[in-house]
Amino acid sequence: MKELSRIAQAIEPSATMAIDTLFKQMKADGIDVIGFGAGEPDFATPDHIKTAGKAAIDNNDTRYTPSSGTVELRKSVCQRLKADFGLEYTPKQVCVSNGAKPCVYVALRAILNPGDEVVLPAPYWVSYSELIRMCGGVPVIVDTREADHFKLTAQELADAITPNTKAMILNNPSNPTGMMYSRRELEELARVCQEKDIYVVSDEIYCNLVYDGEEFVSFASISADAKERTLLVNGVSKSYAMTGWRIGYVAANPEISEVIGNYLSHCTGSPCAISQKAAVEALTASQDSVENMRLAFERRRNYMVEHMNKIPNISCIKPHGAFYVMMNIEKLIGKELHGEVIRNADDFGNLFLKYGKVAVVPGTSFNAPNFVRWSYATSIENIKEGLSRLERFLNGEVI
Ligand code: PMP
Ligand code: GLU
Repeated sequence: MKELSRIAQAIEPSATMAIDTLFKQMKADGIDVIGFGAGEPDFATPDHIKTAGKAAIDNNDTRYTPSSGTVELRKSVCQRLKADFGLEYTPKQVCVSNGAKPCVYVALRAILNPGDEVVLPAPYWVSYSELIRMCGGVPVIVDTREADHFKLTAQELADAITPNTKAMILNNPSNPTGMMYSRRELEELARVCQEKDIYVVSDEIYCNLVYDGEEFVSFASISADAKERTLLVNGVSKSYAMTGWRIGYVAANPEISEVIGNYLSHCTGSPCAISQKAAVEALTASQDSVENMRLAFERRRNYMVEHMNKIPNISCIKPHGAFYVMMNIEKLIGKELHGEVIRNADDFGNLFLKYGKVAVVPGTSFNAPNFVRWSYATSIENIKEGLSRLERFLNGEVI
């Protein structure tokens, strides 16, 4: 048989999806395991949104739609972007696809030529590096530090840019760190992007999950120039607990959105018609359910951060957004636990699952080998039990 695609074969499987699959399999096998792996809201999709989905089926909204999404949904996206961030986009500038993940892919597809570099601040969400590679691009990974709240500085961005740099990826608030950039920090990054003339793929999927009264600033709202060079990715998965409905979108300047629309017309056909109706309801109806979920996440974060920091030899800083905590395991590296030496976060994750019966995502896949990501998109009871297991596991107990 002839050789398979080299690009496709070089792609690593998604570590977050793999942990989630393993966790679900263990549960199905009757093992008492607790999952802090996949970043997915544990809430049900709000009733009014589910009703809109059911009505779509009953009303026979079950056919192909325009490949970049219905005009109704694209208008709803524009209204949300205007109401939330003061951003003016026309429906033609919005392309809807099957979740934010394919939107990041198609955004990169629209701008990258083979060999183009994309600056990727680490720790980063596992899919970015692979999506860049899938588009023939080269991820240029720039490590950030916990002491800087895992945020890339304008200087670090400038230093990473070469004549081959086409874009940077900005994920704000960040998965996996939960950190959020201030307006000032974004202005500084935007200045470098303008000076060096690079695009910004700004993934703002966690924009509504922001705590402590902090202000979320959409990168495109920084200036007219920033808006022109931004490919704004967002969707309904996280804000409305709609991960399985698969609706995301990308908003960009008209030239880019036309390229994206043409691409989607061949590779995905159209997003699910039923889910699009539900997404219109999510975006246009009262946003009260978003606020209720946000408040629950904030309580869970407070609990997790406070109690995690009481456990010896591990620590975490307090994130301001998303639903992740990065646990620092530096002090455990090189130490022996349950008869095995912990060399990195992978070792820790495997042992913790085996002996502690808790699933977390090792930071190795985020380019953060001394960290482990916990998602707090789960109940306080689970968080309590998970942290109690952590303490017992660290004391050598087997659960
Ligand atoms: N971007 C980030 C940062 C994410 O964490 C996720 C969640 N998997 C996505 C995009 C993809 O979202 P969706 O489920 O809408 O594809
Ligand atoms: N965004 C989630 C996570 O990081 C879901 C899994 C995925 O798509 O990677 O866990």
